[in-house]
Amino acid sequence: MFRKLLIANRGEIAVRVIRACRELGIRTVAVYSEADRHALHVRLADEAFCIGPPPAAESYLNIPNIMSTAELLGVDAIHPGYGFHAENPHFSEICQDVNIAFVGPSPEAIALMGNKAAARQRMKAAGVPVVPGSNGPVRNEAEAIEVSKTIGFPLIVKAAAGGGGRGMRVVHTREDLRRALQTAQAEAEAAFGSGEVYLEKYVEEPRHIEIQILADTSKNTLYLGARDCSIQRRHQKLLEESPPPGLRERYLGALGKAAVRAAHAINYTGAGTIEFLMDRDSRFYFMEMNTRIQVEHPVTEMITGLDIVKMQIAVAAKEKLGINQGDVHYSGHAIECRINAEDPRQDFRPSPGTLTAFVPPGGPGVRVDTHAYAGYVIPPYYDSLLAKVIAWGADRPEAIARMRRALMEFEISGVPTTIPFHLMVLDNAFFRRGEVYTNFVQRRIDLSVLTPRLTAVRD
Ligand code: ADP
Repeated sequence: MFRKLLIANRGEIAVRVIRACRELGIRTVAVYSEADRHALHVRLADEAFCIGPPPAAESYLNIPNIMSTAELLGVDAIHPGYGFHAENPHFSEICQDVNIAFVGPSPEAIALMGNKAAARQRMKAAGVPVVPGSNGPVRNEAEAIEVSKTIGFPLIVKAAAGGGGRGMRVVHTREDLRRALQTAQAEAEAAFGSGEVYLEKYVEEPRHIEIQILADTSKNTLYLGARDCSIQRRHQKLLEESPPPGLRERYLGALGKAAVRAAHAINYTGAGTIEFLMDRDSRFYFMEMNTRIQVEHPVTEMITGLDIVKMQIAVAAKEKLGINQGDVHYSGHAIECRINAEDPRQDFRPSPGTLTAFVPPGGPGVRVDTHAYAGYVIPPYYDSLLAKVIAWGADRPEAIARMRRALMEFEISGVPTTIPFHLMVLDNAFFRRGEVYTNFVQRRIDLSVLTPRLTAVRD
C-alpha cells in the first residue's frame, strides 16, 4: 500500500479522499490555492502546500507546481478526484514518468474515452449498443446531412472532447443544421481546445442510467449496480439515486455485463462509470465513459456497503479487489441531492459568500459529504457544489422521506442554496412514482413557484 498520497483537488472530494486514506493508514498531502487557505481539506490533511493564486489555471491546474510539491514531499501516489486533472491523459502520463502512482486508469484508456466520438466507435466494435449517429467526427455540413438521412431529426451535435453537460446542441430541422454545426464547433474549440464534433440521434424523454465499475490489474472487473441520474438541469446532474426506480433486475444484469465488456475492451483499471441512455421502450445505448470517481459515487456505496474510494486506491497500489461479482449485494435504496451555492429563484445563479450558519443533518440513514463549515467563505473561483446529502432507506419511499427530513433539518445561512429546489422535486407526484427522464425538471418543476412560501420552510 502507498505511504503518502497527494490529493490534486479541493472541496468535498479532497475531504472524501483524505478520509479514505486515513482509514487505509496512508499519509495525506493537500495542495491548495491562496483562496483555499482555510479550506477543510487543508485542515484535515497531514501536510498542506500552497500551489498558487486563486484562479484554478494558476493553482489546481498548474501541473509543474503540483508535481514539484509531490516530489518535494516524497509522495508515492496522486489522487486527482474529479474535474481538474482527473481525465487528463497527459497528467497521468507525467505521474507514470516520475514513478508516482496515478489513482486512475492508464493514459491510453483516459485518452481513448476522452474522445467521445472515438469511444463510441470502440464500444460499437466491442458489441456495446451506442446511440445511432455518425461514425466518428463530422467535419462539414455535407457529412452532417448524410448522417441525418439515416438518424433523422431531432438530432444532437456533441463536442468530442465535451464534458459537464457543455458543448451540446439539439437540432430539429435540416435548415438549422449548418448553423448548429458551426456554433457547436466554435464553442467546443473555445471550451475544450478542440472543435471536433459528432452527431447522435436525439433520444426523446430518455433516462440517464449509469453503471459503476471497478477493475483491478488482474482483470477482475466488477459492476456495482446502476444509478439513475435523470434529474438534471441543462444536462447537469442534480439528484441521483440507486437502484434506478422501476428498472427490472434483468436489465441491470444485462447492463452490468455490457459495462464489464466495455471495460475489458480497453483494458480498464480503477473506478469508472459507463453512462447509458434508456429510451421509452427500455432500449439502452452507450453514451460515454467517465474514467474517474464521480460526484454521485456515495449512493452506490450506501446500497452496496463498499467503499469505492478505498478500493480505487487499493487497485492503484496493484492490490487485488479481493471480491467477485457474486459477493456484491444490494440493500435498500439511496438518493443523493447536490446542494449547490446557487439561487434556484434566479436561474441557479452561483452565489459565493460567507456561511453565517451551517448545521448539517444527521440521524438514521443520512450521510453528508461536504467541505463546508460555519464561517466558511465560499470562494467565487470554483464550482458551486457545497454539500452532498445522501439518504438511505429500506425502500425508495423511506429514502425519500429521510431525504426530505434531512433537507428540512439542514440549516445554511448566508448564501442561497438548491435545497428548496430539491424539496420541490421530492414532493412531486411524478417523481414519487418514479416517472423520471432527463427533461423532468424542465417539464415538471415550475421554478416560478419557488417562492418564499417554500423557502419559508427553511428561512
Ligand atoms: P457530458 O459529458 O457533458 O456530461 P453526456 O454525453 O454524458 O455529456 O450527456 C449529458 C446529458 O445530455 C445526458 O445525461 C442527457 O441528459 C443528455 N444527452 C446526451 N446525449 C443525448 C442524446 N443522444 N439524446 C438525448 N439526450 C442526450
